[in-house]
Amino acid sequence: MVISSLRLALEWFELIRQSRYRLQHSHTQPDLELLDAETIVVVGSFSAPKWAVFRCPGNCSTVYRLSLNADQSPHWRVSVDWLGRPSCSPSIHQKSACHAHFWIRAGRVQQCRDNGCVVARDHKA
Ligand SMILES: [Zn+2]
Repeated sequence: MVISSLRLALEWFELIRQSRYRLQHSHTQPDLELLDAETIVVVGSFSAPKWAVFRCPGNCSTVYRLSLNADQSPHWRVSVDWLGRPSCSPSIHQKSACHAHFWIRAGRVQQCRDNGCVVARDHKA
């Protein structure tokens, strides 16, 4: 709570850039009807996360379910900085719907050079 208030204050004073995404943990799959465009839900335990579930920042609103299981291929890694801003690696490439190709770094979307759609509130990586 204190950290999120500090992050909001730093964003308000424009000392840091505004985050698009925030992180939420859940032991169960989120209700997709309730999943907003600013939340990344990490499903599973803290020690054994299984999935990262979030909506595409492009214009398709596709729900991504990225595997966080290092034993599977492909898989991604979600980390959080001290201000609670999530980062995801490697990049996410939506090849079937809007053709978005982007990174999530410190809660922000950074387009890759071959990004194929308009992504709100971001900049070139
Ligand atoms: Zn999309």
